[in-house]
Amino acid sequence: MAAQKISAVKGMNDIAPPVSAHWEWLEEHLRSLMRGYGYRNLRTPIVEPTALFVRGLGEVTDIVEKEMYSFEDRLNGEQLTLRPENTAGVVRAVVESNMLYEGGKRLYYMGPMFRHERPQRGRYRQFHQFGAEALGFAGPDVDAELIVMANDLWGKLGLQGIALEINSLGQPEERMAHRQALIAHLEANIDTLDEEARRRLHSNPLRILDTKNPAMQALVNAAPRLMDFLGEASLAHFNRLRDLLDAHGIEYTINPRLVRGMDYYNLSVFEFVTTQLGAQGTVCAGGRYDGLIEQIGGKPAPAVGWALGMERILELLKEQNLLPEVAGPDVYAVVPDVASVPMVMPVLRALRQAGVAVQMHAGSLEGMGSMKSQFKKADASGARFALIFGADELAQGQVALKPLRGDRTQEPAAQSLLPLIGVAEWAPVLLAA
Ligand code: ATP
Ligand code: MG
Repeated sequence: MAAQKISAVKGMNDIAPPVSAHWEWLEEHLRSLMRGYGYRNLRTPIVEPTALFVRGLGEVTDIVEKEMYSFEDRLNGEQLTLRPENTAGVVRAVVESNMLYEGGKRLYYMGPMFRHERPQRGRYRQFHQFGAEALGFAGPDVDAELIVMANDLWGKLGLQGIALEINSLGQPEERMAHRQALIAHLEANIDTLDEEARRRLHSNPLRILDTKNPAMQALVNAAPRLMDFLGEASLAHFNRLRDLLDAHGIEYTINPRLVRGMDYYNLSVFEFVTTQLGAQGTVCAGGRYDGLIEQIGGKPAPAVGWALGMERILELLKEQNLLPEVAGPDVYAVVPDVASVPMVMPVLRALRQAGVAVQMHAGSLEGMGSMKSQFKKADASGARFALIFGADELAQGQVALKPLRGDRTQEPAAQSLLPLIGVAEWAPVLLAA
C-alpha cells in the first residue's frame, strides 16, 4: 500500500519552476535597485525570541494578538516565534552588534515571514517580504529616498496604477493629545462601535481609524485628525518630505487615516496601493520608527524603512502581463548512443566553463532513448540550440548544431558541423546567436 501523502501547511506554498524563475528575476531587480542606492544586505534568523516582537510591535497589534507562530523550544523551554516581519529582527541585530557606532546604516532584507491569517488571494501564512531600512538617519531626506526608491522599482518593472499615500503620525506627545480627543469622540458614539473597537478604545484607539467595518466609516471620518495635533517640528518634517517628493515629480495623496499596524511608527508613514488586487491592495508599506531602537535596548537612534509583499508584486506583474518569458538553456545536448556519454560529458563541461548554459539529455545505463523522444525533450527545455553528438560525427571529431527556434534558421551557425576540439572558439558564437 502506498504511504499517505503529506500536504504543505495550509497557507504556505511551494514556489516551483517555472514560477520560481519569476521570483529570481524580481529578486535580481531588487538587489540591483539596492546597489544603486547603497543599501546592503542583512540576513537575520527566521526564529527570534517571542519577546522581541511583543516588545517591538506592541501587545495590542493584530500580529502579536493573533497572528504569531509562537512556540516553546522543547529542549530548553525558550519562548520563540517565527518572524512575522523583519524590522524588529533588523533592529535587534543592529543593536546587538552595535552597527551604528560609526554612523547610519542602510540595509535590506528579503525572505519568508509567518503570520497565522486567513489564507486568501494576496494573503498567506508564509509569505515573502523585501524590506529596506535606514537606521541612524533623522532627516526627511531619507524618508524621501526610500519612497523614491520604491517608486523607481515600479518604473523598472513597468508596473502601472500604484498610488502613493502618505501621512504623519507626529511624535508620541502629539499622538497622546490626539488620543484623548479621539477617545472622547469615540466614547460619545459608543453605540456605533463594534466589539473590536470597544476592546481597543483604551488600548489602541488609533487603530480603530483603520477599521474596515462599513457601519463605522461615518464615525471614523468625523474623528479628530492627528494632523491637526502636530507641532511645528513634525509639520516641518512632513512638509519637507512633501517638497522632496514634489522635486521628484512623484504624486501622492495625504491619507489622514493611514496609521499602519505597528505601534512603533512615528512621523512619516506611507503605503503604495493598487486597486487591481482585490481586497489585498497594499503592495508596500513603511514609515519612520524613531522609538524602536531604544525600545529594543539600543542607544536611541532614528530609523525609517518599508517592506513590500513579494507575492503581491508578482501577482500585479502577472495581472499587467509584465512577467518575463522564462529562458531555457542555450543548448540541449542530444546523445544518440550511450557509449558516447564519457566523451560528451567533458565537452559539455568545457562549454559551460566557456559560459554556455547546457542541459544534457539524461539516459539510463542501457540507452539514451529514441532521437524522437530526445528532440521532444530538447524542444520542451526551451533551449535555442540542440547539439547532436552523433556517433559518426564524433568519430570525425565533429558535432552537429541545430537551431530549435523557427526564427533561428538564418543564423550562420545553423545546421553546421562544429569541430569537437575548439569549444572555446565556437562557444562565443553560440552565445552571440
Ligand atoms: P494588511 O493590512 O494587508 O494585513 P499589514 O499592515 O499587516 O498588511 P505589513 O506588516 O506592513 O502589512 O507588511 C508589509 C507588506 O507585506 C504588506 O503591504 C503586504 O504587501 C505584505 N503582506 C503582509 N501580510 C501579508 C500576508 N499575510 N500575505 C502576503 N503578503 C502580506
Ligand atoms: Mg496584516
